[in-house]
Amino acid sequence: MMEQYFALKAQAEGALLFYRMGDFFELFFEDARIAAGVLDIALTSRGEHDGEPVAMCGVPVHAAEGYLARLIKAGCRVAIAEQIETPEQAKQRGGSKALVARDIVRFVTAGTLTEEALLEPRRANLLVAVAPLRDRVGIASCDISTGRMELEDCAADALDAVLARLGASELVVPDDWPKDWPDTPDETIERPRASFRSEDGETRLKDIHGIATLDGLGDFSRPMLAAAAGLVAYLDHAGRGKLPFLLPPVARGTGAHLAMDAATRASLEILQAQGGGRDGSLIAALDRCVTGAGARQLAEDLSAPLADRRAIEARLAAVHHVHGDPLLRADLRALLRQAPDIGRALGRLVAGRGSPRDLGQVRDGLAEARRVRDMLAASADLPDLLQRMSGALGGHAALVDHLARALVAAPPTERQQGGYIAPEYDHALDALRETSGNARRAIAALEAKYRGETDTPALKIKHNKVLGYFIEVPAKHGDKLMAADSGFTHRQTMAGAVRFNSVGLHEEASRIAEAGAHALAAEEAHFEDLVGEVTARREAIAATAAALARIDVAAALAERAAESDWCRPEVLDEPCLDVTGGRHPVVEAALARSAERFVANDCTLGPDDRLWLIGGPNMGGKSTFLRQNALILLMAQAGSYVPATSARIGLADRLFSRVGAADNLARGRSTFMVEMVETAAILSQATPRSFVILDEVGRGTSTYDGMALAWAVVEAVHEQLQCRCLFATHYHELSRLAETCDALSLHHVRAREWKGELVLLHELARGGADRSYGLAVARLAGVPKPVIKRAKAVLDKLEKGRAQTGGLAAGLGDLPLFAATAQEEAETAPDPLREAVETLDLDALTPREALETLYRLKAQA
Ligand code: ADP
Repeated sequence: MMEQYFALKAQAEGALLFYRMGDFFELFFEDARIAAGVLDIALTSRGEHDGEPVAMCGVPVHAAEGYLARLIKAGCRVAIAEQIETPEQAKQRGGSKALVARDIVRFVTAGTLTEEALLEPRRANLLVAVAPLRDRVGIASCDISTGRMELEDCAADALDAVLARLGASELVVPDDWPKDWPDTPDETIERPRASFRSEDGETRLKDIHGIATLDGLGDFSRPMLAAAAGLVAYLDHAGRGKLPFLLPPVARGTGAHLAMDAATRASLEILQAQGGGRDGSLIAALDRCVTGAGARQLAEDLSAPLADRRAIEARLAAVHHVHGDPLLRADLRALLRQAPDIGRALGRLVAGRGSPRDLGQVRDGLAEARRVRDMLAASADLPDLLQRMSGALGGHAALVDHLARALVAAPPTERQQGGYIAPEYDHALDALRETSGNARRAIAALEAKYRGETDTPALKIKHNKVLGYFIEVPAKHGDKLMAADSGFTHRQTMAGAVRFNSVGLHEEASRIAEAGAHALAAEEAHFEDLVGEVTARREAIAATAAALARIDVAAALAERAAESDWCRPEVLDEPCLDVTGGRHPVVEAALARSAERFVANDCTLGPDDRLWLIGGPNMGGKSTFLRQNALILLMAQAGSYVPATSARIGLADRLFSRVGAADNLARGRSTFMVEMVETAAILSQATPRSFVILDEVGRGTSTYDGMALAWAVVEAVHEQLQCRCLFATHYHELSRLAETCDALSLHHVRAREWKGELVLLHELARGGADRSYGLAVARLAGVPKPVIKRAKAVLDKLEKGRAQTGGLAAGLGDLPLFAATAQEEAETAPDPLREAVETLDLDALTPREALETLYRLKAQA
């Protein structure tokens, strides 16, 4: 056995080996120690290996899913080694001592799950493969629980942002992956480079989908196909040659989406709050979906908002339609709430891991889809998107009807017991069931008969797994039945009871067993047929599942908008951001819980006024204002209503959000370094169509450095990038930029001192902040009075000094304009050609060398 174990363990490639022994999966050696630790189960030992006791632990097969879930969560990978023959077959093959053959049938990893118990209903579970090819990287992502697959490619330095958007559960990379590439998620698995060949990707995809060319599916680049090859090869490996359900791949074009990098996503807390949980995130404040599939779609929409006006309008029109008809909305949501997760049920069925319950879910979900379609059909002036979705909901009548006839109302997750095929579906099955029913009744009759005959009212006919049916009487009556001519044969004597068999009982019991086995086989055959019928229609069913999710999202966004009186944003091509009465959806909800009111604020960025410099006291609401406008833009481009009284949103190509270093301390690198790396990314990537929010940039270093950097960054944004930007700062001195930058304006969050106390109004007003409120905020925060008093004295001294010298920004008025310095920079940049000519010693050259030099210089030019 150990030999077999080690052979399998070698194939498990570092995964924990679940070694099937009867009703248990056993783990040995180091595997057992790891699993016992994670699962908190008893570690025992068995036998010896190399003179050492063998550590062992085990989990029962019927409860394996729960244990698997915990191991996967803890970051383990598991290889399942099943018995692939029965003990009888083993004996026939190799004699009485033969070992049952075992083989690894599947790897269970974070990215290859399909089981309902192991998946989070409201989150997609993505497996992602990446393949670098020259200066591009191909990315293949799929959610095998629903079969969706997407291919894209990007420049090597944009990979970080793509991975941040996808949030993979598991990442597959070639084993020659250059290690200085961006941070990779924990679940990264290396596979041989040879499995990432683009030609193989193309061939595999064509084979899987039975098509001669991929042209009809979209435009796939070499890197995309290479990544697809790596993904499919890994799935092949994980399923030991059995591929899960894959829908035809979709090519994700560049520029179709609002680009956001990892830092922006983290700072806007889109799917996760800074703490890591969902509470406090944008999605938590928005999600009113009634189905898991809807919630997954919404998360995807918010992770990848659109950049195409027509597509955004289509989504908004759908939300508008459901928003304007509260009755339709309530009815739709009530229907959708009933709909099971057919996408995932289908995924399991196609992967060969489906249960009767999954078939039942497909039946009920498709029936529900039909009702949703009828409801939409009855609604006048249906917008395009809903019409298209509605079109994908029907067409399953024959299948639903068949499943309805074939299955009982609530089929079980287990097949072993049978009982899931409905009565009257198969007459032969009904007859078998009747036979065992009759036999059961006959056994009940036998019990009454035997009680009379033996005059023992306490006699019972019982059933257990080991003995099957038997007759039991209390010990004191045992003798009566022991008599040779009693017609009973003794089977077992217990402490308080004696057990018997009889010819009559044996006959009936055999009839039950035989009919039961036949019935089970018949149900099994029907199950296979039904699964076949469902999988044959998988693409249409997957399309229905996707349409239901999309409708749920539209209804949920409409519901959310109605709850808090949000408005439909107008989406424009010109670079503006014109929001009246804007609110921050997360902060507003948090304040509402403590019965506080959120102060709405306007934002009116346009071509002539595209950079707002915002000052005012700490805690005054600057960050909140910055973020609420970024979120409003993001929500609008995702196709949602927005928390405002009105909003005109100019489409953005990229969104950047940066928070001063002091705000995210929990990082290893120098925080100021992080801040500057992120700022550099904005300065090199933003375009005039981008929207940028910068919060207290420069705060992580000394006052002079910080202010100088903030100053230069504002100038660069204004002069070079020319994008829309909100810039919060506590450096008063920056307000002087308003004198030279004509599309820049000054704003501040208002505060008032009242009876010596500082009152923060959270209200935005035009004009520079008149003074700093640092000391007042410190008092508000409970800094002791003597300290405040001392600080006041120091401040007075400093301010006097400032008045005399002109302060920190003294002399900045003489600074040449940013545009002029940039120009000068270009002119004075060293010219290598000129330098090369200047260093030539002409007298030392032979004519031949001179000619060669001339050729070299020409090539350099
Ligand atoms: P700053 O960036 O100016 O330091 P924040 O934006 O972090 O200030 O806001 C501090 C706190 O003030 C927030 O946590 C919130 O509770 C409250 N706040 C901010 N904006 C508003 C608003 N518009 N209405 C009501 N309360 C607000």
